[in-house]
Amino acid sequence: MTDTIFALASAPGRAGVAVMRASGPGAGAALDAVAGPPRPEPRRAALRELKRADGTKIDLGLVLWFPGPASFTGEDCVEFHVHGGPAVVEALAAALTAQDLRPAEPGEFTRRAFEHGKLDLTEAEGLADLVDAETEGQRAQALAQMTGALKALYEGWRERLIEILAAIEGEIDFPDEEDVPKQLARTAGPPLDALIGELEAHLADDRRGERVRDGFAIALIGAPNAGKSSLLNVLAKREAAIVTEIPGTTRDIVEVRQVRAGFPVMLADTAGLREAADVVEAEGVRRALARAEEADVRLALVDVSRETPDADYLARLRPGDSLILNKTDLADAPQIAAPDGVSVFPISAATGSGIAALEAWIDATVRDRLSMRESPALSRARHRQGVERAVAALGRARDQLTEHPELAGAEAHAALRALEGLTGRIDVEDVLDRVFAQFCIGK
Ligand code: GDP
Ligand code: ZN
Repeated sequence: MTDTIFALASAPGRAGVAVMRASGPGAGAALDAVAGPPRPEPRRAALRELKRADGTKIDLGLVLWFPGPASFTGEDCVEFHVHGGPAVVEALAAALTAQDLRPAEPGEFTRRAFEHGKLDLTEAEGLADLVDAETEGQRAQALAQMTGALKALYEGWRERLIEILAAIEGEIDFPDEEDVPKQLARTAGPPLDALIGELEAHLADDRRGERVRDGFAIALIGAPNAGKSSLLNVLAKREAAIVTEIPGTTRDIVEVRQVRAGFPVMLADTAGLREAADVVEAEGVRRALARAEEADVRLALVDVSRETPDADYLARLRPGDSLILNKTDLADAPQIAAPDGVSVFPISAATGSGIAALEAWIDATVRDRLSMRESPALSRARHRQGVERAVAALGRARDQLTEHPELAGAEAHAALRALEGLTGRIDVEDVLDRVFAQFCIGK
């Protein structure tokens, strides 16, 4: 017997309206008990007095009845739209508990929807991301995923793989010894190659989808006093980092999260990269180097009143990075022959000169790297791991195809399981636990 669960679907706290939702076999009876018969027409709002079992009033509110299976969870569902005061919500929760309903775990409604086949695992994740979306880019990506973009991609691959498997196993079952290799090379080889190519292309997307979810990382690097903290403050438009004249003030990483071009961006000011003066700073330098290494883009700052970047310095920059010639209010910016793909910006963090051009470049870079493409992006490490496992198994299947078709078949099966784990077709309990635990209560 399934429990009937309930939870506040709207945000907790004082509000104009609060939405309480219940799902499970006892939802209809609870509705009758609290809102009184007759039960409202399915999916139509009805204004009712809500009462406790002893007949005392709780509130006047709207109730909705969503009989299963045509409901969000696939079970009988009920919604109560009440006045959003904490005491009203608490009284309603107590009345539902008295009807033997229990509070839902985080993500439990969506998990039930998943278990009743209302959505696959990637769509459930898209739903969680949509609820969490704070920027326009995150919203668009989450909506695409929630409405089945990744599911369609992964299911399409799965179906093609099943055909490939049928070809491999067909040959194993009718082993006309000599012809097997030739035959398989012709029937299963090309589609297997094509599939491997598509999975690899999906993986080689510069981690676009994960960055849309987690943020695009920009690291400010450069010698102490180059003006990193000053530039961070200008870009953040607030005093986020401590700016002083003593080299090595920024001992740890100061990070500013902001929205640029509709995407989340993390700007990190790193400790000055110099010989560590003490242990604390050495740790700061170590972290700065690691952060700079992982960052999507590095802004390399130079104080033009003190130095001119030489060939060695320039050689360490990567395509996509930018070289910032700072303090142009003190000295003229030198002419620099920057490596290919490295943009140069003469600026003054003190006067603001050149900042607009730099910001336009940052925004364009973020937009360029993160904007939606035609094919959906994988948005979580879980997807990346699953696709990596599948592509590795497919590669081994390809290697064994003509010599050891039975081994190729086993590898293709392993790839199939990896793809099915992505959509939740084969449910691995701990994966489900992990995915749904990230949801908020009431979803
Ligand atoms: P960091 O060590 O790279 O983080 O450098 P800071 O941002 O702390 O700046 C070091 C010193 O340079 C401070 O005294 C800043 O006020 C000064 N400074 C930073 N940018 C400029 C600039 O564009 N022009 C001038 N004149 N001084 C600057
Ligand atoms: Zn600093």
